[in-house]
Amino acid sequence: MNMTASSSNMALGMTERLKPIHEKVAAMVRDEIAPLDEEFLAEVEKGDRWGYTPRQSEILEGLKKKAKEAGLWNFWLTDSERGYGLSTVEYAYLAEEMGKSHLAAEVFNCSAPDTGNMEVLERYGTDEHKAKWLKPLLEGEIRSAFLMTEPEVASSDATNVSMSCMRDGDDYVLNGEKWWSSGAGDPRCKIYIVMVHTPDESRPRHQQHSMVLVPAGTPGIEILRAMQVFGEDDAPHGHMHVKLTDVRVPASNLLMREGAGFEISQGRLGPGRIHHCMRAIGQAEAALEAMCKRSLQREAFGKKLAQLGANYDIIANARMEIEMARLLCLKAAWMMDKGDARAAAPWISQIKVIAPQVALKVIDEAMQMHGGAGISQDFQLARAWTHVRTLRFADGPDAVHRRQVARQELKRYTQEKV
Ligand SMILES: Cc1cc2nc3c(=O)[nH]c(=O)nc-3n(C[C@H](O)[C@H](O)[C@H](O)COP(=O)(O)OP(=O)(O)OC[C@H]3O[C@@H](n4cnc5c(N)ncnc54)[C@H](O)[C@@H]3O)c2cc1C
Repeated sequence: MNMTASSSNMALGMTERLKPIHEKVAAMVRDEIAPLDEEFLAEVEKGDRWGYTPRQSEILEGLKKKAKEAGLWNFWLTDSERGYGLSTVEYAYLAEEMGKSHLAAEVFNCSAPDTGNMEVLERYGTDEHKAKWLKPLLEGEIRSAFLMTEPEVASSDATNVSMSCMRDGDDYVLNGEKWWSSGAGDPRCKIYIVMVHTPDESRPRHQQHSMVLVPAGTPGIEILRAMQVFGEDDAPHGHMHVKLTDVRVPASNLLMREGAGFEISQGRLGPGRIHHCMRAIGQAEAALEAMCKRSLQREAFGKKLAQLGANYDIIANARMEIEMARLLCLKAAWMMDKGDARAAAPWISQIKVIAPQVALKVIDEAMQMHGGAGISQDFQLARAWTHVRTLRFADGPDAVHRRQVARQELKRYTQEKV
């Protein structure tokens, strides 16, 4: 992490080509998507929680169609001829806007876990995988899930992943349980990327796992339950607890080769992690905006709320912390754009810790400034806080990322393994 050397010619600003795209995305989020968030979410209570009511489909598919027709689609596909060919730095500005609305990321076909999964299929899939799964994902016709975490093992150390995957003739047969499989509740979710254990003593510790494509609905797959986050099941997306019993898939569904699981997961989780961070910064911005507006609207003790107690400091600190987090996020994005995954990793880890931390603090202060209303259904702050809180676990808990940052730092002063 040599700051001076790695930071030369670092361009973090908005490029000219991005400006008109950014304007369109920001306007669509603000004027067309965010106003429909609440109606869309309220519909979940009306139908089968794990399906879409006609109105939900109308809202979501209508917005997607509009975005696609306007060419506002698949921005995440950085450095590629298929998408815009934006850099990760450029994408960061768009993802931040998307973070301001519940539906926005999906409207632009930029939502988790699909972006990470599509990246895997694009980089590591065969032509057949791409035709069957990547194409409809890129079109926004289906959705996907990523199954790594298991209930029985500490999954922040992914070498613990234990799902069995045995070769049987031309097939693989999978057995075991996964949980927190985000998106697996969605009826449109058609494909799972599953991390499995394929032990081989001749290979090193980080080559004992593989990734296999498992179509949703393959016989032997059982959705046991939806995990709840503070009592909410996040239907119809869902974070599912899934059991696989003798699930049989063709051997050609293996990604790359046996033992390549970690190699693939590094490729997948890097961009995925940073997308979450960019959106979290957008959520923090939205919370700060709400906090400022509310504190100017209401009065107590003869003054506007903004003018009471330490509220200037609270607002100023929120602004300063958001700015710091955004710069760190852009730097991590810039490191990714340089193409050296190993060099970018500690930067991704830094922002993976900082972005949720800052966003949680700002959202918390915004809730406080709103009084009781701040944690109610009348504002989206409580939902934003709940979502951002999960990011301190999803894609690796804080401690694992801090470890990565500290090891990188210590390496500068010792030849020993740290
Ligand atoms: C809403 C949500 C969505 C998720 N979506 C997905 C998904 O789509 N797919 C998927 O596979 N997983 C998903 N996850 C799971 C997530 O990635 C795991 O929860 C996370 O990796 C931690 O694994 P674990 O829960 O097994 O915790 P454990 O590994 O048991 O760790 C528990 C705690 O131990 C401590 N700890 C661990 N390592 C260290 C260390 N090195 N130093 C100090 N302390 C440490 C930390 O405090 C950590 O939080 C999701 C989780 C949530 C909450």
